[in-house]
Amino acid sequence: MLDSSPASPARPTFADITTIGVGGSIAAFACPKDRVGLIEAVEGADAQGQPLCVIGGGSNLLVSDDPFPGLVVRDARHEMYVLDEAAPVEGQDRSVHVGATAGTNWDDLVDYCVRMGLAGIEGLSGIPGTVGASVVQNIGAYGQEVAQSVQSVEVWDRERKTTQELSAQDLAFGYRSSALKSSMYEAPGQPAESFFPTPRFVVLSVTFALRHSRASRVDFDQLARALGVEVGDQMPTEQIRQAVLSIRAQKGMLEDPYRYLNPWMRGSRQRDNAQAAIDSLQAAVDQAGGVDSPQGQDLIANRHSCGSFFMNPVISEEQAVSLPAEAPRFPVISAGQQADPARVKTSAAWLIDHAGFHKSFALPKAQAGLSTVHTLALTNRGSASSQELADLAFAIRSGVEAAFGLSLIPEPVLVGLQLDR
Ligand SMILES: Cc1cc2nc3c(=O)[nH]c(=O)nc-3n(C[C@H](O)[C@H](O)[C@H](O)COP(=O)(O)OP(=O)(O)OC[C@H]3O[C@@H](n4cnc5c(N)ncnc54)[C@H](O)[C@@H]3O)c2cc1C
Repeated sequence: MLDSSPASPARPTFADITTIGVGGSIAAFACPKDRVGLIEAVEGADAQGQPLCVIGGGSNLLVSDDPFPGLVVRDARHEMYVLDEAAPVEGQDRSVHVGATAGTNWDDLVDYCVRMGLAGIEGLSGIPGTVGASVVQNIGAYGQEVAQSVQSVEVWDRERKTTQELSAQDLAFGYRSSALKSSMYEAPGQPAESFFPTPRFVVLSVTFALRHSRASRVDFDQLARALGVEVGDQMPTEQIRQAVLSIRAQKGMLEDPYRYLNPWMRGSRQRDNAQAAIDSLQAAVDQAGGVDSPQGQDLIANRHSCGSFFMNPVISEEQAVSLPAEAPRFPVISAGQQADPARVKTSAAWLIDHAGFHKSFALPKAQAGLSTVHTLALTNRGSASSQELADLAFAIRSGVEAAFGLSLIPEPVLVGLQLDR
């Protein structure tokens, strides 16, 4: 496929296949087109002791500019299927099971489900990346987490060298965490000796349990305001999806869809959806004064990120008491569980802003800076190096630690880069 294009070099760099657009050369790149090929590629690298990175959309990866001396594997399968479409709806049980291969673009799946009249993931519209990675970090936004809709995940276990079906319970989902993610870290933010930067369990496919409904509950204040309704109200899932996409566009929290014109990304997202996203960004850029205007350039550069760079700190009650009174405090609830009374979540964006790092902040002479519309997004403003982004992250983390005594944990997977100095 793309690899055979005569105009393309043999392999992409990480800059070609990540949303933030940085990262060095890659020794070997494979895009298996079937399940067996994916397992063989992973197992082949593991058997030879080669460094391995299974990549999806590259939207949660910040990779060093140094050459990566191993294999990067991207699942080329993009299949979505309804498992029990013809099943009768009995009583109150209106569940419909939908499966998707790991390489499927996440927003393609959301679009497919909303069109089919299936509710449960519409609030996660516009999150970049793939189905496979969605369960690694338990993606979440606007009052939903993927954990709420996952029935099971088929994985390749790199340690036991076998496939396994993991239930939602096995996955131990938490706030931006899962058993899959934990398998590559010693502790939050500290890579383990083995497996990192890809989990022990490589996701092959995911089965979702969704509700057969064209309406869903609005569970997030900002979303309710955008829709002109109250939190708790029911709204059509299509309207929720469009409202989420619109809020995300305003905050620069959508990826740059022009990346799907890059030969290494072409075909990894459904053509119509990629084109619709390009048209929408193009219209916004035109309205802002065109691609050469500072506003137009900001609209595009704000999207060259990994999304939120730091997780919202989950802290003890004593730590929460020591924060300024006006610092936000939220209950810690995940995947429909009860709130944890001993722990409190605060806002990384608030801490960063109140430590003096405001939107647009940049270190002198660096091409890396905070988004002009979102404090939590570290962005590549042009031709940033990975080191410039790591330096910016380090400066922000040190500043927050000095101001509030809290150490922020990066959300993206850092490959070949360290924030500890
Ligand atoms: C503009 C923007 C907005 C974002 N907004 C949100 C948001 O609202 N909420 C949110 O939760 N996240 C958000 N993110 C982060 C990101 O989109 C998610 O983490 C996403 O799930 C990453 O998917 P990916 O396929 O790009 O993963 P990648 O970046 O390719 O990989 C991330 C990790 O997952 C592993 N991985 C990838 N595929 C597999 C697989 N098949 N099996 C096992 N491991 C695998 C990789 O090895 C790596 O460790 C945002 C990112 C951007 C750029």
